[in-house]
Formats: sequence, structure tokens, C-alpha cells
Amino acid sequence: MIAERQVTRIVIEGAVQGVGFRPFVFRLAHELGLNGFVSNTSSGVVIELDGDSATVEHFINRLYREKPPLAVIDSLTSEAAYAAGYSSFEICLSQERGSKTALVLPDIATCPDCLNDISDPHNRRYRYPFTNCTNCGPRYSIIRALPYDRACTSMRQFDMCPACRAEYEDPRNRRFHAQPNACPVCGPHLELWDRQGRIISTHDDALLQAAAAIRAGQIVALKGIGGFQLLVDARNVDAVQQLRERKHRPAKPFALMFPSLAMIREQCLISSLEADLLTSPGAPIVLLRAKNALVAQHVAPGNPNLGVMLPYTPLHHLFMAELDFPVVATSGNRTSEPICIDEHEALARLSGIADLFLTHDRPIVRQVDDSVVRVVAGELQILRRARGYAPLPIHTRQPLPKILAVGGHLKNTIAASSGSRIFVSQHIGDLDSEPALAAFERTIRDFRTLYDWSPDVIAHDAHPDYRSTYYAAAQSRPTIAVQHHYAHLLACMAEHQVDAPILGVCWDGTGYGTDGTIWGGEWLLINDAGFERVAHLRSFCLPGGDRAVQEPRRAALGLLYKAFGESCVERLPAAVRQSFSPQERTAMLQMLRHGVNAPVTSSMGRLFDAVAALLNLHQTVSFEGQAAMALEAAAADSSRRYSFGFDDGMLDWEPMLRRILDDLDNGIDKGEIAAKFHNTLVDMVLAVARRIGERFVVLSGGCFQNKYLLEATIDRLWAEGLTPYWPQQVPPNDGGIALGQVMAAAREYRSE
Ligand code: ZN
Ligand code: ZN
Ligand code: FE
Repeated sequence: MIAERQVTRIVIEGAVQGVGFRPFVFRLAHELGLNGFVSNTSSGVVIELDGDSATVEHFINRLYREKPPLAVIDSLTSEAAYAAGYSSFEICLSQERGSKTALVLPDIATCPDCLNDISDPHNRRYRYPFTNCTNCGPRYSIIRALPYDRACTSMRQFDMCPACRAEYEDPRNRRFHAQPNACPVCGPHLELWDRQGRIISTHDDALLQAAAAIRAGQIVALKGIGGFQLLVDARNVDAVQQLRERKHRPAKPFALMFPSLAMIREQCLISSLEADLLTSPGAPIVLLRAKNALVAQHVAPGNPNLGVMLPYTPLHHLFMAELDFPVVATSGNRTSEPICIDEHEALARLSGIADLFLTHDRPIVRQVDDSVVRVVAGELQILRRARGYAPLPIHTRQPLPKILAVGGHLKNTIAASSGSRIFVSQHIGDLDSEPALAAFERTIRDFRTLYDWSPDVIAHDAHPDYRSTYYAAAQSRPTIAVQHHYAHLLACMAEHQVDAPILGVCWDGTGYGTDGTIWGGEWLLINDAGFERVAHLRSFCLPGGDRAVQEPRRAALGLLYKAFGESCVERLPAAVRQSFSPQERTAMLQMLRHGVNAPVTSSMGRLFDAVAALLNLHQTVSFEGQAAMALEAAAADSSRRYSFGFDDGMLDWEPMLRRILDDLDNGIDKGEIAAKFHNTLVDMVLAVARRIGERFVVLSGGCFQNKYLLEATIDRLWAEGLTPYWPQQVPPNDGGIALGQVMAAAREYRSE
């Protein structure tokens, strides 16, 4: 019997740090009478067990079955260890060696136990806004380095009081090695600042006074978990309008935070999956159909959906309980800048927007925005991936070379591959401003230091003038340029682990094509080596180039010029024609006539814009996608459709355009026209799919954020006996580009 006793070494990789894994192992080992130790390493968790092989096997089985709810085991290996026997089981301090591949966990919404603690007047954490435990609390937003230990987090400046330390050191306690563990005696505290940064009040008074300010219609900047948020009473039309004016954000929908799920149910239609998402550890913003559109007019003008979330930190729980009504909760930034994470920076940058600052002294290490998700075709789809999701990796079947992908230009994210994992960063934002660019470079540095990782090659968008392309070119590493729509499709393939060949349908606003024109209505056949552009939307010209993004009427004029030439102006519906001054019209016709400052595009996004302008939904917009969203919202329940041309790999919208103009002349309802337009696009997908004959069809690009379009296309593909895939874990918009760039670079690397 003695011979069976040996020491077994178990190495576990995955999300096993900061989730109560070691105390769980400790309890299990004690229960089974096994001696040895458990320790965090830079790559995961290592356990040594001294006992007979049957008990060790039993231990491993139970480890899989009973692991803590947030733990994810990617791999587990066990082998005989040449170690002396042990006389007890202990939790050892972290060992710092090996490569830093441990998974960093996202920030996790407050758990029910912690919620009880802060609600119980007899608990020492009653009303304490920084309560957390191993099952919840900040992670990614406070970690400075691996391994995940208190000394490596922004909590290192807070010395634990004896009571907190006792919890922290007791393996039977829920707060055993909860790195951000804190209490009112030893932890961070709240302060309320005025616009000059003077302290008005502290602790609970600060919270109560900030709530009173919201009730009085003021705008409060609140330091949350991954950055500042701007809060205002959502019921107060004037206050919300004030926020719009100060933020220079006239129309883009605001997200709402509700005090309770019950209150969300009063305002929105909600499925059980949507309720699960709202209350999940990620606690994202969920797009829901509003029950009463009028309620939301000032929050999400012209939009049938509301983006809503529930409180996800004790601070938010206490604040929302105090208010008991929904608030607008939008990113604490100036338009086109990243969110503020530091209170002094917030004071400087947001003092023109916020009246008061509810802040605290727990530093935020990196920006992590609220994530945005929705349910499409009965399943989760992430539209903005940050808090609660980043930086969890996407897994690949095969190990990849070390690739850094710098993403696109809009909704930028970056990605990095390490072994068979690809880490996609949190949402960074549009790289239009210097602060955004600084955040982009900071995130790349951050990845390199956090994982102690350095790339062999850098992948970037093929667009020669993107700031991310400039960045890639300035590094002393080989670079690989990746076509934009190819990247969109590869990202979706990576997420679903689908192999080539597939037919990819990629529709978006703008992407640099291999012929130097702007693509955006593309059908790409992806094979093992690369892709072939098997079909595309008939191209047209955009007078004024990028200005067409703000002015859908320019896309309409460009479209009609292509179809009708010089007589296009007479064919324009009156609303579009009259929105231009005569001088503007003349200037634009000049551009179109001579092909000067009128780039050629096959963009589906601009086709949406053009049709929205023809229907007079928007002649000009304040954010990209506004016109397309209005067109989707307008679509009535109709199965009718227009005809289109399909010849020589070109999908011709002209037959549809002519019928749309006829319908407008005949006074056909706009909702009917919008529906017919959407249905025609679905027909276009199917027409190409039938001709190409690939079974797997991948749908991606920003246009597929359109739920009507995406769900209708999915249904039709299924009905046709084909298998559709669409982005779910990584956004269909340019937030997914970086992941696809990694996959494209890996393909090139392999074939070299
Ligand atoms: Zn907790
Ligand atoms: Zn304490
Ligand atoms: Fe795109």
C-alpha cells in the first residue's frame, strides 16, 4: 500500500485566479485528507497532492464538477512529482516564474452575498460602496501585473485592518485572498467634488448629496469601476437635453441604468435570456425594445430600442436604491475621446459637462467601458466588448505565432495571440483624437507588459492612412496588411472555429479595397490561402468623400447620378433637392461629373444612407449609422420586395432605386418601402449564395448590427439548407477587425 502513495503535481490553466479557486482547492483537499499545497503562478494554478492515486483521481473529478462558478479550466495536466511527502495542506504565496499566460478576469458584478452585506445594518460593511469578495468585484480594472495578488493591484496602497486581514487569510472565508478586499475602516472612501475640485462632502454624505443633485436635475460624474460615467435623471427632459448640449451629442442614444429588473420590465419588453444577461456577472448594457416609445424620445430619439443596465458595483446599488428611478448613464468623456479614469483628469476634461463629481481613492488602472449586447436570433450578440468580457480570450484550435493586431480606425480594439489564445482588448474607441490615439498606444503597451509578451509580427488594416496603420509602420517589426472585410469575416470564423471554404457576406460603411476604392458591400469566397471577391454591390460615387458619412443626402445624389447622369437632380425627391442650396448642388455635380473629390464606393452602409435620405428620414446626421438605424426602425411588417440586377458578380441596385422613386411618387407608405428595401438585400445574399454553392455562409460588418436584416437573412439561409454564422462574442462592427487581422496574419505566416 505504501508504494501507491506519491506526490502528484497538477497544473491548471484558465480563469482560475481571483475566483476563489485556491480556497476551494484547500477545502477539497482537507475533505479528502490530502496533504500538499496550492499556489498561483503566472500561468495558472499549481497543486501538489500527497496521497494514493485513487483519491487524487477523485480529487480531480470533483475539482471539475464543483469548481467555483466563475472559474474556467482551459487545461489540466497531472504528473508524478519528485517531491518529499507533506504533512499538511497549505495555500502558498504566488510563485513568479514561467510565462505570464494566466487569464486576467474581467470585472465582475456584485454578488448576492455582498449585496446582503451592504444592506444589513448589523454588518460591518453596511452601505460600504467598495464591498467585494472572491465571487465579485473589480479585476481587470485594478490589475497592474501578473500574478493576480494584492501587491500587483491598485489596492496595494490600502493596508488591510485586522478584521479584513483575518478574512483574507482564512481559507474558509468568502474573502480569502479577495485581492480588493476592503471595509469602511481600511478601504477606499467616497468624496463629492465641485467643478473646482473642492471637497463638498465625504463617505455616505457624498453619496446622498450626489443623489440629491440628480433629483434636482444636475449632471453628476461618477467614478465607476472602469472609468467615469455621466449620470442624469432620465425622466427629466430638460436635464437630459442639458447633457446633450454640453456633450455635443444631439441625437445618439444614451444608455440607462435602472434600480431594478422590475422597473425595467415596466418600460421594456424583455425575454428570459435578456433578463439573464442583465443579471449576469458581466452585467452589460442590453438593447431592449421599449414598450412606450414616447417615454424614451429624449433618451433615444427615433429609436425603438433602449440600452439598459442594472447596478453592477455596490456604489451603483446604493446610489440607485437611493434614487429609485432610472438615470441616463453614459461614458464620462467628451465626444470622440476615451472615458476618463482619473479624477483629476476628469475634473479637467469634464468640468464643462458635469456639475458635481462623485469620486473615490481606488485608482482605476485602465479604461473599461460598459459593454453593449443584444439578443439576435435568440442568442447573445456583443456589440461593444469591454467590462465583464474583456480580456477573456478567443481560443483557436492550433497555436499561433505571436501576432499583434492593431485593428481598424473606428471602434478600435487591438488583439494579441499567445499560444492558442487570442486576447482581444476592451473597446478603445474611434482613433480620431489625440487622447484616443494615446489610449490606443497605452493599451498596446499595457498588453505587452501585463503578459510580458512581445510580437513577432504586426497586422494592420490595408488602409494606408489609418492612424493604426501608421503605428504599425513605425514599429521595428515585420508587418502584414489585411484587407478590411476579409478581417471582418475571419474574426467571425475564428470565434465559431469554422474552417474555409466559406462564403462571406461583409457589409459595412467603409473599408479599403484591394483596388484602392472604398468597399463595403462585399461577397468574399474565403479559401485556405486567402479570398476571392466573388460579388459586390454596384459602385457609385460619393460627392465630398467622407462628408457623405454626415450627410446621407450626398449618398442619395451620388446614387442617382450613377443611375440617371445629368438628369439626376430632377429625379431627386423634393425633400432631398431642397435640402441643398443651389451652390451646393452645383458644386457636387461638378465633383461627380469630373470624378474629383468623389471617391468610388460599393458601400452598403452608404446605400442605406442614400435610401434613408430618399425617404426623408435624415438628410444629415450627427453619428454614423443614424440614418440606417432610422431606416430599420421605419420598416413595416411586409414580405414584399424589389427586383435587382445580378450579373458578372455585380449586384445592381438600379432596378430597386427606380421602383423606390416610383413608390415615393405614388405615395406608398415609407414603412412599406423600408421593409421592401431590407427584403431585397436579403434576396441579394441568397442570390449569390445559390450561385456560389458553399454551405457555410458568414455574415459580418457593421450593417449586420441591423437586427431586421440579420434575423431575416439567417432565417432565409436556414430555409435554403445553408448554415449561417454571425458574430456573437466579438462585435460585427470594426471592434472585431483586430481579431480577424490576427487570423489573417497567422494564415500568411503558415504559408511562408
Ligand atoms: Zn461578492
Ligand atoms: Zn478593513
Ligand atoms: Fe468595417
